[in-house]
Amino acid sequence: MLTIINSFFIDLCILFTLFTISFLPFRNRPRLTPHSPLKARVLLGVQSAFIATILLGNALHLEGVLIDLRAIPITLAVLFGGWVSGGVAAVLFLIGRFFMITNGEYVGFYLAIATMVALVLPASLLRLKLDNTRSTLLVFTTIGAIVFGAAIYYTLPLDLFYPILLVYIVMSYVGACAAYRLLQELRRHFENVQHQQQLARTDALTGIANRRLLNEAMANLTVEAEEYALILVDIDHFKRVNDTYGHDVGDDVLRELGMLLVAESREDHLVGRFGGEEFLIIMPNAQKDEVSRLAESIREKVSTFPFETSAGTLHITVSLGACHSNDIEVDSVLKHADEALYHAKESGRNRFILAS
Ligand code: GH3
Ligand code: MG
Ligand code: MG
Repeated sequence: MLTIINSFFIDLCILFTLFTISFLPFRNRPRLTPHSPLKARVLLGVQSAFIATILLGNALHLEGVLIDLRAIPITLAVLFGGWVSGGVAAVLFLIGRFFMITNGEYVGFYLAIATMVALVLPASLLRLKLDNTRSTLLVFTTIGAIVFGAAIYYTLPLDLFYPILLVYIVMSYVGACAAYRLLQELRRHFENVQHQQQLARTDALTGIANRRLLNEAMANLTVEAEEYALILVDIDHFKRVNDTYGHDVGDDVLRELGMLLVAESREDHLVGRFGGEEFLIIMPNAQKDEVSRLAESIREKVSTFPFETSAGTLHITVSLGACHSNDIEVDSVLKHADEALYHAKESGRNRFILAS
């Protein structure tokens, strides 16, 4: 009895280790479902077959049959990826099982085929109707317990059948539920990490990129883009807005300006709040005339745009300084853009100057 429990316990250890590792390729992807891209579902099938085959290598070898917890990875493949993942897992597993036939013991192999079909087919059909929940997992585990119970009843003498069935059932339910929980926890953990990373790069007030993300993007520019441009946008006399209407109204203006800049820019531009009432637009692969066109259109748009705030509609203007580069260091480009912005302010505001 101890040997049986020990063997299944090792199965559980293998399962948890391999589930954790095989979760990693999926960690930053949307949750896997039967409607996920085919590649992801096939990958899940391959991984599940691999785990099931490793379990097979550790199986209890009795009367020509190999007894292990393979039903758990196969069941989870169907639960997450539907019939495609389940089918791929079952077929690949059976190929592996074929190569493990020893001393011409074909009975075990035929039983493996029968049990796989009897498990994957109904589970796949049920998955069309049932969602990915713990209850569905319990239904699948019950199917597995019945199928594998029947298989060992067919092959083992009764004095072996009862203890093995008992341990098998307990370990199947415990293992399936624990593995499911482990995957859920991993999913939550990585979603949380992603969320925190997102927050660390987002400006809390405007919801657009913050200075950290802008700095990262600028550092990558020199590597990725041959030609690029930086546009600095600074609100004119913004202090007066705060002084006249209050800080909250100033915040409303900043939020709306952030949205306006994003709307005016192209998708491959990165718009962020560089600090205070100053915004930065990073334009990778931008031609010189594109820079002037965008900056002028922003300047014009802002000057006529009705900024809706809690104190009513306000009008503001912005000054812009930009620099286009095809060879200079990004630090110098930013410095030139800043100098151009300074000149725009000096020459009367509501201006755009492109550093030459
Ligand atoms: P200039 O035309 O020369 O740019 O004048 P300015 O008043 O816009 O520039 P100045 O640098 O003198 O003042 C910037 C103001 O921006 C002062 C500061 O209170 C305000 N500000 C900075 N960050 C925030 C913010 O998060 N919310 C609000 N409401 N105001 C902010
Ligand atoms: Mg200003
Ligand atoms: Mg400023």
